[in-house]
Amino acid sequence: MTITRFAPSPTGFLHIGGARTALFSWAYARKYKGRFILRIEDSDIERSTEDSVSSILDAMHWLGLDYDEGPFFQTMRMERYKSTIQKLVDNGRAYHCYCSKEELDQMREEQKSKGLKPRYDRRCLHSGIKKDGVTPVVRFNNPESGSVVWEDLVKGRIEISNAELDDLILARSDGTPTYNLCVVVDDLDMRVSHVIRGDDHVNNTPRQINILKALEAEVPLYAHVPMILRDDGHKMSKRTDAVSVMQYKEMGILPEALLNYLARLCFGHGDAEIFSLKQFIEWFDFKNVSSSPARFDMKKLLWVNSQHIKQSANSELGLIVKANLDARGIRSDDGIDLVQVIDLVKSRVDNLNSLTYECSYFYQRVNISKEDKDKHLTAEACNILDTFAVGVADVQWSIDAIKQYIKDFCATNGLKMPQIGMPLRLKLCGTTQTPSFDMILYLLGKDEVLKRIRG
Ligand code: GLU
Repeated sequence: MTITRFAPSPTGFLHIGGARTALFSWAYARKYKGRFILRIEDSDIERSTEDSVSSILDAMHWLGLDYDEGPFFQTMRMERYKSTIQKLVDNGRAYHCYCSKEELDQMREEQKSKGLKPRYDRRCLHSGIKKDGVTPVVRFNNPESGSVVWEDLVKGRIEISNAELDDLILARSDGTPTYNLCVVVDDLDMRVSHVIRGDDHVNNTPRQINILKALEAEVPLYAHVPMILRDDGHKMSKRTDAVSVMQYKEMGILPEALLNYLARLCFGHGDAEIFSLKQFIEWFDFKNVSSSPARFDMKKLLWVNSQHIKQSANSELGLIVKANLDARGIRSDDGIDLVQVIDLVKSRVDNLNSLTYECSYFYQRVNISKEDKDKHLTAEACNILDTFAVGVADVQWSIDAIKQYIKDFCATNGLKMPQIGMPLRLKLCGTTQTPSFDMILYLLGKDEVLKRIRG
């Protein structure tokens, strides 16, 4: 069975690189009708926080990446890690090391001065000496010769010589297990078949494979997906870039648009740019995942978002917009049908905040800036509007009749369309940037139109 996992460390919010990894792991499990596990890697107690855990869970929920098992927490599995370490010691695949920091520093200096790569020289493995009063660390007895080879599903064949690998510490002197050991035991116990993660973990993989082999466990398949960089090719930073998934929610990005964009960033299927999650699951294949770093492009994300907004059901968008309007104290549930308003304005926006704004002027009194007033509501424009209002009273309220009235009004008074359009837009909506004004008139209704023109 295909079993994948997403294993974030709760040392901050869920960032977009993590969301992309979660998406790939989730989609792969869904494609092969397998299982997707969420595992919170909180073994680094100093840096893990409960706030981070909740923000990761919130972001997974918002993205709609549901998991079949978990969340599992490493801090709940300490006994299991400890017994595994003991087993490795008993089998001679790990050993106690009593070297002090000073000894290790000296060893490193000597190696460096001889032009050698600094690594633990295994003196405690060979001497078998115990030092009274010193609590040892446990080191992995890494194979000395040969190499570790795996066929990475994204990067292809990778081979690392064992000579390159140090005897990794598995347990600190206080007995707590270290990162790589926990990951290995978890992947083993959770029967993970495909480890899908960021390629910043490539260096851990040969170490983890060696530990798995020492435990006589089956080695999973690995897929290391590329980093997501800023559009200038630099690493993204929490300080200057929107890296948290939830920041995109704040910006009015739809979760399905963010996932579509993140998928497309590192994966291709012909020239398809806009696709649903269902479609992505069907298409997803590591063969079509790029192995080089991706560059994040906000403009492209907004374009993808605009396409998803266009494709979304008006009723679905209505729920989001209504909640946004409620949050701003604007009631939208009696009067003009929000779904119709959304239908009118949704093709004009690339985010849900703009969508909310474009809907808002249907439900509240409009404010007109002094600048707009001076420019568009001149004495002449106000006269035109007054005359326009008089005729409005007699219009049968249908789109066609409204269109006809506007046309006739311009013809009779020798006006060009913008001469009535601009002041009318401003009076009705508080802005001159609006969708077609015959539709606005229609949706607002005759009474409201007259109220706003005269108000
Ligand atoms: N906890 C690691 C991280 O957040 C992921 C480890 C893994 O996927 O193996 O980067």
